[in-house]
Amino acid sequence: MNTPTSPQIAPGAQALPRVAVLATGGTIAGSAPDAANTAGYQAGVIGVAQLLAAVPGLDALAQIHAEQVASVDSKDMSFALWSALVQRVNELLAGDDIDAVVITHGTDTLEETAYFLHLTVKSRKPVILTAAMRPASALSADGPLNLLNAVALAASGQAAGQGVLVAFNNRIHCARDVTKISTYAVDAFQSPEIGALGWVQDGRVEFQRRALRPHTVDASFNADVQWPQVEIVTSYAGVSRIAVDALVSAGVRGIVVAGTGNGSIHITLQQALAEVAARGVAVVRASRVGSGHVMHNGAAKDDALGFVSAGTLNPYKARVLLMLALAAGTNEKAALQRVFDTY
Ligand code: ASP
Repeated sequence: MNTPTSPQIAPGAQALPRVAVLATGGTIAGSAPDAANTAGYQAGVIGVAQLLAAVPGLDALAQIHAEQVASVDSKDMSFALWSALVQRVNELLAGDDIDAVVITHGTDTLEETAYFLHLTVKSRKPVILTAAMRPASALSADGPLNLLNAVALAASGQAAGQGVLVAFNNRIHCARDVTKISTYAVDAFQSPEIGALGWVQDGRVEFQRRALRPHTVDASFNADVQWPQVEIVTSYAGVSRIAVDALVSAGVRGIVVAGTGNGSIHITLQQALAEVAARGVAVVRASRVGSGHVMHNGAAKDDALGFVSAGTLNPYKARVLLMLALAAGTNEKAALQRVFDTY
């Protein structure tokens, strides 16, 4: 990770917005042995200067300040890198030299990083994540246009106050709602149930609607925390309680369950989870379905079993929120449910 430097942009030198591009790696910075190869590549090997050089027209949109924050395949995302990233974003946006931040990231855990930042960045200035499904070396690489669109969105003046956004394949998504839905297709991200907020095309940004839930300056979470251990288990035919028992023996503070259907849980797993909930482990019910919500099912079920319901958050995002809530000292079930109903 590079040591952070001060932005090299002279304030007021030009009228263009000043956008910091923070590179973290991913396929957008990936390289393969030949141009037809879109799977056998190494992620995160191309530096931010080369990424920017592949995008014609950036200079007409913004004054760019570039930093290489990391060079990782986002499957290996860590709490340490999240901490470094949010700290740098907050530093840059607190100053007068930068108007917006664009983060290049791998697609695999982009939705987790985006939601984490959505809840922990302390600024109303735009923060946009983008990525690519094809490596930079590929025929029809999608990274350059995604990066151009992300900078156009950051510089547009329309993204301020909207929390962390994801610009991908022309669409603008809210960090809370977006998820990866394809292992290979260029149109790899959707906001299931809720839909994208708008789009960017040919440099033109158009929002159709806004996300309503609190984020960034209106969220009461701190990123500078000791991360509580929170893990995910899945419900499926014939599931055992082995994973739950092992996790609790290892000292987890919380478990998110990726339930079947509307967050339903196999009776074996449900009994195990109810037992550990009674012993103080936070248990959050989400769904493995990928779309729709998991509603709090009231006195007869969630309240009796000691479970919290995740609403429209998928299990991976529910885990991020649960970690932040536990780290902030929210442990009690009703208080945790209010957190999930709020964010
Ligand atoms: N494994 C890559 C990553 O998440 C995939 C991608 O970026 O598309 O870093």
